[in-house]
Amino acid sequence: MTSKATNIVWHGGHVEPAERLGLSRVRPAVLWMTGLSGSGKSTVAMALEKALVNDRRMAFVLDGDNVRHGLNRNLGFSAEDRTENIRRIGEVAKLFVSAGLMTITSFISPFRADRDAVRALLRPGEFIEVFVDAPLEMCESRDPKGLYKKARSSLASGKGLEFTGIDSPYEPPLHPEVHLRTEQMDVNACVNALMAYLSGAGYFTGI
Ligand code: ADP
Repeated sequence: MTSKATNIVWHGGHVEPAERLGLSRVRPAVLWMTGLSGSGKSTVAMALEKALVNDRRMAFVLDGDNVRHGLNRNLGFSAEDRTENIRRIGEVAKLFVSAGLMTITSFISPFRADRDAVRALLRPGEFIEVFVDAPLEMCESRDPKGLYKKARSSLASGKGLEFTGIDSPYEPPLHPEVHLRTEQMDVNACVNALMAYLSGAGYFTGI
């Protein structure tokens, strides 16, 4: 997207990234959870955030519904709005990474190109794609927010909701850094897999 404003100059600060790292005890990055509604993104994101903070590591979750209440309240669920939704979240996540935090995002983010665009915004190693994977039938049977039920009845009455998996596509990641099959792994196992990945790939710093 091109910039409308022209007279803007980036203003640097006086704090070095290494100084922040000493405070946050992580090499900051975005853990980008993607998957169908009900696959377990928010549940795993919140549990991981808690595990990181318990380990005295700075982490913060950016969650789909929360962002749509505020920053992105003017966006709907058309393909165009979904793309803009993810673009803004990518920019916010990038700011959080500059702030030194392990940033966990929990958005369906159904389009591969949108996720790849966020990856391209960040430096190598700063984007960790986490595929939170469960079959549609399982997500639909969990239906934690009753959204599938709503989407099915809207579809039956002839006005679609553009709901991912029902009448809007989901494009699974081709090469996610982490693949969580939540049909087979419970929440603890998912958190352990993510902590092991972060530790093994050198994202934990400090003593
Ligand atoms: P999403 O954020 O992807 O829409 P939620 O986390 O809101 O999904 O809901 C997932 C539902 O599935 C919750 O009710 C959660 O308790 C349940 N669940 C069952 N197994 C798992 C698992 N391994 N990981 C995450 N959630 C799970």
